[in-house]
Amino acid sequence: MNKTGSSFTLHGIPVSRGIAIGRAHLFAPAALDVQHYLVPEEQVENEVQRLQDALATVHRELQTIWTDLPADAPAELGAFIDVHALILSDPMISEIPLEIIRKRHYNAEWALVTQIDELSAQFEEIEDAYLRERKNDIGQVGERVLKVLTGTASKLPEAGADESMAHMIVVAHDVSPADMLQFRHGAFAGFITDLGGQNSHTAIVARSLDIPAVVGLANGSTLVLQDDWIIIDGDAGVVIVDPSPLVLKQYRDLQQRLIRERKKLSRLRKTPAVTKDGTPIDLMANIELPEDCATAMEVGASGVGLFRSEFLFLGRIHAGRLPTEDEQFESYRKAVLAMKGRPVTIRTLDIGADKPLHHADETALNPALGLRAIRYCLAEPQMFLTQLRAILRASAFGPIHLLVPMLAHAFEIEQTLAMVAQAKAQLREAKCKFDEQIPVGAMIEIPAAALALPLFVKRLDFLSVGTNDLIQYTLAIDRVDHEVAHLYNPLHPAVLQLIGMTISTGAKAGKPVAVCGEMAGDVRLTRLLLGMGLREFSMHPTQILAVKQEVLNTDLGRITAQTRKILKAYEPEAIAEAVAQLREM
Ligand code: PEP
Ligand code: MG
Repeated sequence: MNKTGSSFTLHGIPVSRGIAIGRAHLFAPAALDVQHYLVPEEQVENEVQRLQDALATVHRELQTIWTDLPADAPAELGAFIDVHALILSDPMISEIPLEIIRKRHYNAEWALVTQIDELSAQFEEIEDAYLRERKNDIGQVGERVLKVLTGTASKLPEAGADESMAHMIVVAHDVSPADMLQFRHGAFAGFITDLGGQNSHTAIVARSLDIPAVVGLANGSTLVLQDDWIIIDGDAGVVIVDPSPLVLKQYRDLQQRLIRERKKLSRLRKTPAVTKDGTPIDLMANIELPEDCATAMEVGASGVGLFRSEFLFLGRIHAGRLPTEDEQFESYRKAVLAMKGRPVTIRTLDIGADKPLHHADETALNPALGLRAIRYCLAEPQMFLTQLRAILRASAFGPIHLLVPMLAHAFEIEQTLAMVAQAKAQLREAKCKFDEQIPVGAMIEIPAAALALPLFVKRLDFLSVGTNDLIQYTLAIDRVDHEVAHLYNPLHPAVLQLIGMTISTGAKAGKPVAVCGEMAGDVRLTRLLLGMGLREFSMHPTQILAVKQEVLNTDLGRITAQTRKILKAYEPEAIAEAVAQLREM
């Protein structure tokens, strides 16, 4: 039973749909801040054993990580694990804390932290910068042991390890997009966090994993205990902790109904996405890693409209270096081959804001307004050129479109194009094959870009509207901040006008326009976007069939006038009502 002793309900922000029912699995970065108490004499040897067991568990964890390292994993990653294993076996960690328990009767956590603090202070004094750095490794090893001791794991069990884990709900104060990468390989049914907004990257990854999730629960996670029963209603943004048998039954029935509806949709996999009046619509997939192409193909995506390449980089931070040109090339090639001739739109590194490359970058005052995405790439030309060469080389294996995030200024577009030309020249010189005609496009996600489209259509081959950032920057709302999440409104007239303008200006200039932000995967908005003239949607593969159903039921002739009316409206109620009416037409 949870900390309150009875069933209770939490309300948060729904970020990924569906019903999940399972046991709580507390996920927390263990702060080196632990309970301190004295152990009675007769318990001392038990306490010593508890610490020894935790040390042995961490030893096994490290060995498993070692043996599971992919063959192409960078050498530094192995070395990094070696250092941790060495620290763990050193008497400084494996023996002295045990002596502290025996002599001072401290509990295991306290004994361990006492010794780690002592070692950290000694390392602080060391002149050699490399050795001084090892202080962090000691801290990390200590955290691993503490997590085992306190029962808050930082790593999830692997899929298939135990059937019951498929019904595990991750409960966390916060989950970073990098942590979510780790979750991709775990078997769990849903997650809830205290922090986060509707379109934070963590939420986006949850949607791509297709598991129910609710974020922005304030301090809800502190009320939940390991193994508490939890229901997540990802549609309503509601979390029920320790539900009564009656409530549990109602939700199980609802869950079954949703599963049956999903199954029905899967019949549309091979049906062409064409409106009732015969207009073909492109329904493409957003992916984070090349492996996601399999799901994209399964649901019949007509291509990849957004490959968020930064996730290749985020997964490698711990290896201490960025992926090399060859490693990147292999990932891009894998994606393009998996899509079997369907276009793959690779977005260049969109790092920064809620996807920091280094933890040090998190200190920027306004990271979303800072050196992110193309700004970062233009400031790091060698890194950018490496990525461009890798993408270009992969274009010899299938159709690739190159998409550039966060452009706002003419000179940024020009510098980017000059870098693409430079990367091409380098490859020609090295006699590497690539697609000379590779289309280059811009994300329209800064209001300034949407208001200055002639700069873009003149210089680039296509546009893709990033509604997640466009909403963030138009309404001045941090998309990650749950305190302003209620202000994040895709139907704000300013947002709708910017999207409408981008679609119509692109059409007039003969340049394809896609929407690849979360609005493209929201069935409630499909008709509105179709009515605005949108013909290319890119979304999580899990949304494609539902959006396709909406496309199949839409008669463009019937919705155009209503859409025009919406684009001219300002009053929120009038807009909301007109959008709802669109769905009835
Ligand atoms: C967007 O901003 O809408 C977008 C698709 O990019 P991201 O969500 O990765 O910032
Ligand atoms: Mg964006």
